[in-house]
Amino acid sequence: MFKKIGYLLLSMFIVFKHLFKRPVTLEYPEKKNIPPENFRGKPVVENCLGCGICLRVCPSGAITIDRENKLYKIDLKKCIFCGNCAYYCPHSAVKMSKEYELGVDNRENLVLSYPMGGADERN
Ligand code: SF4
Ligand code: SF4
Repeated sequence: MFKKIGYLLLSMFIVFKHLFKRPVTLEYPEKKNIPPENFRGKPVVENCLGCGICLRVCPSGAITIDRENKLYKIDLKKCIFCGNCAYYCPHSAVKMSKEYELGVDNRENLVLSYPMGGADERN
């Protein structure tokens, strides 16, 4: 009997203790989380020279280079946000942005397409 009352008081104490603490969650989407400095969000590409190094280090085969249309494409359905493309790009053309709201209403919109800005044509 005393044991049960003890448990009851303990559980009430825990509930009241948390009533006055700040919540660990945010009222998303009204309030948004600020990602840390080393966060790896949506990869953004600018002034790619088409050397092809990132294609070799991408573990999921998410990157394609359309040389005919001079487009650099990243398929977010395959991308695992490892950051290898940004890390190994010798021209610092890829940056892992802090953007994390990547939901779309059409699968085709998950393929990011960036204009290429260089003349290096190696494969
Ligand atoms: S972040 Fe990783 S998985 Fe995504 S495109 Fe770059 S190398 Fe590929
Ligand atoms: S310049 Fe950078 S982003 Fe462009 S293909 Fe080479 S490694 Fe990839």
